[in-house]
Amino acid sequence: MAVAISANGRDHEPMGLYNLLLAELECPRCLVRARCAVEFRLGLLDLREYRLGDILRWAGGHRGKPLRRPDEGTADGEGYCECAHCGKDFWVRVHVRDDRIAEVRPDADRPAHIS
Ligand SMILES: [Zn+2]
Repeated sequence: MAVAISANGRDHEPMGLYNLLLAELECPRCLVRARCAVEFRLGLLDLREYRLGDILRWAGGHRGKPLRRPDEGTADGEGYCECAHCGKDFWVRVHVRDDRIAEVRPDADRPAHIS
């Protein structure tokens, strides 16, 4: 099967593909700590469920960063989730160190969609 390469050199990823990071986070909207399913786009995007400390599976082939393994397995990305308590959304920063999902925390600087 032929692989389409876009102008920026990346494979075409079907829209809406992401991975999930299940983590307990303090919602910046209601300040309640709750389990969140964070959607994020790092590594191989196949709807895999990760938890903090898990090793991220990188994409192979000719895919560009951040899907392919960066130097030393270190990458920062963004994630998105909706609070299970108040139903409002917020963005998070996802930090990968040595191929492991090392940290996830709310990104207070980025405006949410749901007001
Ligand atoms: Zn909340």
